[in-house]
Amino acid sequence: MTDTPIKKVWIEEGCISCKLCEDIAPQVFEVPDDEDCFIKPDAAVHFQPLDEDIVQAADDCPVEVILVERDD
Ligand code: SF4
Repeated sequence: MTDTPIKKVWIEEGCISCKLCEDIAPQVFEVPDDEDCFIKPDAAVHFQPLDEDIVQAADDCPVEVILVERDD
């Protein structure tokens, strides 16, 4: 069974600004110097084509603050 499309991606508190997620998917994640990561405003158009990269970023985030929600 394949996963359903990603509906939402967000960052919980605790980001350490390591920029790993931005390196993996710069179309979705932006990490200003020494500030918390945020999801770019137009990121949703990239959720489907970058699905694997977003999941990898969430899996690899050292403090596990990237959360992904899929359609039911
Ligand atoms: S990978 Fe995690 S800790 Fe690193 S910048 Fe992204 S959200 Fe922050």
